[in-house]
This record gives sequence, structure tokens and C-alpha cells, in this order.
Amino acid sequence: MHVLVVGAGVIGVTTAFELRSRGFEVTVVERQRGVAREASYGNAGVLSTAYAGPWAQPGMPSKVLRYLLSGASPVIFRPSFDPAQWRWLARWLGECRLARFRLNKQRMQRLAEYSRTVLHELRSRHSIDYEQAQGWLQLFRTDADVERARPSLELLGQSGTAHRLLDAGQCRVLEPALVDGTPLAGGLHLPDEETGNCAYFTRRIMDLAAADGVAFRFDAAVTDLAFDGNRFVQARTAAGTIAADALVIATGADSGRLLRRAGVRLPLYPVKGYSLTARITRLEFAPLVSVMDEAFKVAVTRMGNRLRIAGTAELGNRRLTVRDAALGTLLKVARDWFPGAADYGQAQPWVGARPMLPDGPPVLGVTPVANVYLNVGHGSTGWAMACGSARLLADIVAGREPQIDLEGLTLERYARRGKA
Ligand SMILES: Cc1cc2nc3c(=O)[nH]c(=O)nc-3n(C[C@H](O)[C@H](O)[C@H](O)COP(=O)(O)OP(=O)(O)OC[C@H]3O[C@@H](n4cnc5c(N)ncnc54)[C@H](O)[C@@H]3O)c2cc1C
Repeated sequence: MHVLVVGAGVIGVTTAFELRSRGFEVTVVERQRGVAREASYGNAGVLSTAYAGPWAQPGMPSKVLRYLLSGASPVIFRPSFDPAQWRWLARWLGECRLARFRLNKQRMQRLAEYSRTVLHELRSRHSIDYEQAQGWLQLFRTDADVERARPSLELLGQSGTAHRLLDAGQCRVLEPALVDGTPLAGGLHLPDEETGNCAYFTRRIMDLAAADGVAFRFDAAVTDLAFDGNRFVQARTAAGTIAADALVIATGADSGRLLRRAGVRLPLYPVKGYSLTARITRLEFAPLVSVMDEAFKVAVTRMGNRLRIAGTAELGNRRLTVRDAALGTLLKVARDWFPGAADYGQAQPWVGARPMLPDGPPVLGVTPVANVYLNVGHGSTGWAMACGSARLLADIVAGREPQIDLEGLTLERYARRGKA
């Protein structure tokens, strides 16, 4: 059976790899020149199960409003006439209730934990190197930030995640490169959480998949899908048609058109984010532990001999243009904590779109069309959920029993309005 996977981000490539390992003939078709050229390229690289959770959470709407009024804001909102934007926001607000947050968080964590297991298995079986590092430190600038983190500590305790609340002195012992001048009230250390370069990982998986017989077709945007009754038969691309027995849509933030062709309506919305990647020039001033500045929601991740500084959520602009104000916030955070560490003036800017659903978990599995499957909507933690999502999807296509419960991770939750 021949399966066509559309999209060669981390989601599509891992899916193709898993499908091949179940014996399918697999073709990946991608509009870019190679794999991981869009959201999977310049992300923060955090592979955290504890951090995998929805943006929609209690207190978030007022926090966002406060952010919008502050100078260096982690949130940029451009009100537009796009009805999809307002529908998405209305649903997002509904998902901020405590009960909804708990449910969505549990669903995402179930998937992220499974993903970590699959990733570790792949890593040890294939010796994949992707600039991985261990340890994660959330920094709180004020006592109020520490207080806001307390409900999450409870959840971490319940899920058995190793963590330790540190005072400012302990943070500096753990990460001596943190400068003294910036106010620091404390931090949350998650020693088992991991980081890594998502694009490198995706390329390694592509190499393994290609060596195993997966065909990759680049520079080939899928422009339309053809059906015979309720079955997909072929995809039209800029480089000709491709027939297949099944189709997997893994097209990230830009999935709307293909989803509609497959009869699927999802409130998927692109939430732009930015990063800067700077070469480390003074090793003694560079962090070994990756950190997240909670006040600005900016991550500084060590990737080999570079620092990746990433963050910002921008709603209301579908074009991937770089906004200087967003880069300014990233630079401020990097210079506040690690001023002499890297050549920030020459840092590589990047912008990408998170494929966001208002509730948080992605949508995996079957659609109303008999042989069309989805692996979309991984939002701000798609790298952390990729390997598990791919294996689940491959199991579904193969008719095998998935290894974790799919509750809340499929299209069913959007099939009937109001359903959990
Ligand atoms: C600033 C930022 C920081 C982030 N940090 C983290 C983090 O620390 N940890 C984490 O887990 N996640 C993070 N994310 C989220 C993560 O990057 C995404 O969830 C993930 O990359 C989504 O992968 P994807 O394969 O679905 O999408 P993409 O990587 O965007 O891949 C989709 C692919 O589909 C292709 N495509 C689309 N339409 C077509 C078509 N019609 N025909 C052919 N090809 C098509 C695109 O060209 C693209 O290559 C971050 C995102 C951003 C923006």
C-alpha cells in the first residue's frame, strides 16, 4: 500500500519514517527545497513533557492584556477583519476555564510523555545526534512570577516530574553564566527535561527514512486533491500528479485548504513566533543549562556552539515578515542574562508560524474521507510531541492498537460542537 505524506516538517518526516517501518511504501511531498524549512526550522528546541500544555489557561486573557500594554511584549496582536481570527479567539477564551485547561494539559502531557519514550528509543537504536542537551531552568524576575508558578508545581508533583524551586542564589550556582545585574527572584529547575535542534533531528530522520526507501519530492506544492467517491486517489502538485492508496496531511500552519478539500473544518490558526541564532564568542559567559525567562516568555537554548533565543506570539498577520520589535524583545532577554556570551549583532533572525488549535492538543488520525489521515495542529510544542504523534498515526493507518489512549487527540473532539 502506497501512502502519500504531504508536508516535510518534523511531523511529516517522522510520520513517513514510522509508516515505512510498518512496511508501507511511502512518498513525502513538500513545497520547499528540503525538510524542516518552516515551523520546524528555527524553534526554541525545547523537548519538555512538563512544559507541554495549552496556551489557553486560567489567568491568561488578563495576562495577555497586560502584555499588550507593556513595551517589550511577548505578545503581538493585530486585530484584522479575518473572521477565522475572531472565531479562534472566542474558542480560545472558552478553553481558558480551569476544567478545560486541566483536561487539555493532561491530553498534551500524555502525548508528550509517549513522544519522549519513542524519541529515546529512536536515539538509542540509530545513534542520532541533534545537539541534544539536558536540563531546563525557568527564571522568575519577580516574587509575583514565582507565585504564579505555584499551581504548575502542584501539577508537576502529581505527574511525578523531577523539579526543584530555587532561590536566586541557587539559580546562579546552577547556571553561573547568569549575570548579577538583572533582577532575579528565583527559578524552577527541571533536570530531566531536554532540548535539541529540531531541524537537525528532522534531517537525520529523513536520512534514515530515505535509506529505508521513503521517496522525497521537494519543490512540489500540493495544489489539489482528487477523490473517487469517498476515497482519495491522487494529489496534484506543481510537479505533476501523484497517485496513492492513502494520504496523510501534515502541512502545519498552512493546512486549511487541504483540510477543506478533505471535508475537515478545524479552527487552525497560524501564531507567528521569532528566533535569533547567535554564535557563542565567549564560552565562559554562555549558559550550559537552557533557560526560559517567564516574564518575557523567551527561551535561550544552547545548541552546540550557538545560542537560540526564541519566543513571541503574534496573532493577526499570516505573512511571514520579520518584525523588528519582536527581535528587540529577544535581544533584550539575551543581553539581560548573558550579555557577553554571543555575537548578537550577527545573529540569524527567523520567523515561523505555529499551527495552533485553540484548545492545545493536535488532531491525529482518521477523517470523513476513508483513506485520508491527519497529523496537524501541534501548536507551540510540536517538536516535543512529534515522535509520539508519528507512531500513533502509523499505528492507526496500519490498523494496529495505538500504545496510548487517543482520547482527546482525534477529530472526534471537533466533530460535534460542545463535545470535550
Ligand atoms: C518561535 C517558535 C518556537 C517554538 N518552540 C518550540 C519548542 O521549544 N518546542 C516545541 O516542541 N515546539 C516549538 N515550536 C513549535 C514547533 O516548531 C511546531 O509545532 C512544529 O514545528 C510543527 O511541525 P509541522 O511539521 O506540523 O509544521 P512545519 O514544520 O511548518 O511543516 C509543515 C510543512 O508542510 C509544508 N507544506 C504546507 N503546505 C503544503 C502544500 N500544499 N504542499 C506541500 N507542502 C506543504 C510546509 O512547507 C512545511 O514544510 C515553536 C514554534 C515557533 C514558531
